[in-house]
Amino acid sequence: MIKYRLLCKNCNLNFDSWFASSNEYEKLKSKKLLVCHYCNSQKIEKTIMSPQLINKSKSDENIKLQRINEVKKTIKSYQKFIKNNFKYVGKNFAFEARSIHYNNEKKPKGVYGTASKKDLKELRDEGIDAQMIPWIEETDN
Ligand SMILES: [Zn+2]
Repeated sequence: MIKYRLLCKNCNLNFDSWFASSNEYEKLKSKKLLVCHYCNSQKIEKTIMSPQLINKSKSDENIKLQRINEVKKTIKSYQKFIKNNFKYVGKNFAFEARSIHYNNEKKPKGVYGTASKKDLKELRDEGIDAQMIPWIEETDN
């Protein structure tokens, strides 16, 4: 749907009207089906698109961007916590997680690293608490 502000050249009043598309506007105009709401004149001209519509789509875009940034912020705060409290083990994650689990250390430090979905499933099957979290690379600042 497109909202156009239409201007009547006869009485000089303008009014808003909705069209399915800009083509529909042209079609109605060529068939002389566009008439002034006030004086029924057919001297109707399209003026600029209603500013409300432009503003609306713009603020929708801003809200979307804001949400993405909030999610990123949350993920980054998780990352900071993990980096401060967990040991990075890279691709040895499954191995390290198992050694913590089976060695039964008194104060095991958590580990983080990369693991496949298969690894995670196997760890969970063994009763090891492994979580998958979204991760943002530092470079994407
Ligand atoms: Zn008019």
